[in-house]
Amino acid sequence: MEQTKILLDENEMPKQWYNILPDLPTPVEPPLNPETKEPIKPEELESIFPKSLIEQEMSSDNYIDIPEEIRDIYKLWRPSPLHRAHRLEELLDTPAKIYYKNEGVSPAGSHKPNTSIAQVYYNMKEGNERVTTETGAGQWGSALSLACNYFDLECKVYMVRSSFEQKPFRKSLINLWGATVIPSPSKETKFGQQFLEQYPDTTGSLGIAISEAIEDASENDNTKYALGSVLNHVMLHQTVIGLESQKQLEKVDEYPDIVIGCCGGGSNLAGISFPYIKDKINKKHDPEIIGVEPSACPTLTEGSFKYDSGDTAMMTPLLKMYTLGHDFVPPSIHSGGLRYHGCSPIISRLYDDGLMKGRNYHQVEIFDSAVKFARTEGIVPAPESSHAIKCAMDEATKCRETGEEKTILFNLSGHGHFDMSAYDKYFNKKLGNE
Ligand SMILES: *Cc1c(COP(=O)(O)O)cnc(C)c1O
Repeated sequence: MEQTKILLDENEMPKQWYNILPDLPTPVEPPLNPETKEPIKPEELESIFPKSLIEQEMSSDNYIDIPEEIRDIYKLWRPSPLHRAHRLEELLDTPAKIYYKNEGVSPAGSHKPNTSIAQVYYNMKEGNERVTTETGAGQWGSALSLACNYFDLECKVYMVRSSFEQKPFRKSLINLWGATVIPSPSKETKFGQQFLEQYPDTTGSLGIAISEAIEDASENDNTKYALGSVLNHVMLHQTVIGLESQKQLEKVDEYPDIVIGCCGGGSNLAGISFPYIKDKINKKHDPEIIGVEPSACPTLTEGSFKYDSGDTAMMTPLLKMYTLGHDFVPPSIHSGGLRYHGCSPIISRLYDDGLMKGRNYHQVEIFDSAVKFARTEGIVPAPESSHAIKCAMDEATKCRETGEEKTILFNLSGHGHFDMSAYDKYFNKKLGNE
């Protein structure tokens, strides 16, 4: 059998992140002030973000150095392995080669620490002592708690009430690394209080939790807000995934024909695909790039491309993005990380320009694929990541029919060890097919 796991040495880990902004064929449109509708000035963002992240958000440098302190922490789990899915290929009886990058090996179990470590580092450098954030399923909250633990910052997580009640172990993980986590809406912010007065039985939403975390950051000294996806600097930090995968594929003399990532806010898709999109823009290669969404929250595939707010209270800058509307509340599917109404402005731009394609799948077919993957490759995938698996399996099955020996690369954004109750529901046929 050919190689199964392609590894890099620590010293082969990228020393710079790749910034796609200056390479975009059509520039992204600027964020707007929600009140004046004028383009936002960098200073206006300083009450909620550290200056170095605002600079990265708008940077025209092609590559940005990864500080040594960040690389030192990345080394706890990076470079992450690239696997060849021999057993899955065999099951599908396909001539295609399937590779996947395993981001589930991070301490928090997903790709999210690639940006949480960076964001908290810059906050620490600028003398901030506390960060706030929201979390849905708890993956971002745990990644940020992990990062604050390393840099000794306080961390407060507003967790969507329904998840807070249904996912007690993510909450424990957030506590274990030292952060405080409370259900949102809460009585601790003005917006939360107002919302609770109006809707005492609300189960909360990501949009509401973002509004609370931003209010907290803007009203407290030395406190900033951190977002786990959507923004340009988050896409930037995740490019270590794709850059590593390029070195790994080079070692086995491969270049992908298809690159796949699941898409919520767009960061793991950006991470795996931007270095390949650079080759596409420079006409060096022409891989197909596919973002995969849940049918229950089909932002790219069924949303519209327009300016919209990132949160329910409309406190965030307006972003030009694919959106289902800031008041859209998706059904409570088990891919919590993919239940966001909007999508990264850069991904939205690439999608609109035809440099990226989209696809969506229903929940039950996602779990069918997740189980096939676990029974061949052994790894239990996160439901979110299983969207990418399903798409890779469909593409490999097409190759069986056409006889094409395509090379398929997908990002396994995380493991599913905290999603066992969803797997139980699937096996007991209690899973809705949203
Ligand atoms: C958060 C999360 C996602 C979705 O977020 P993106 O920003 O779209 O990557 C996907 N997979 C896992 C495992 C996650 O934790």
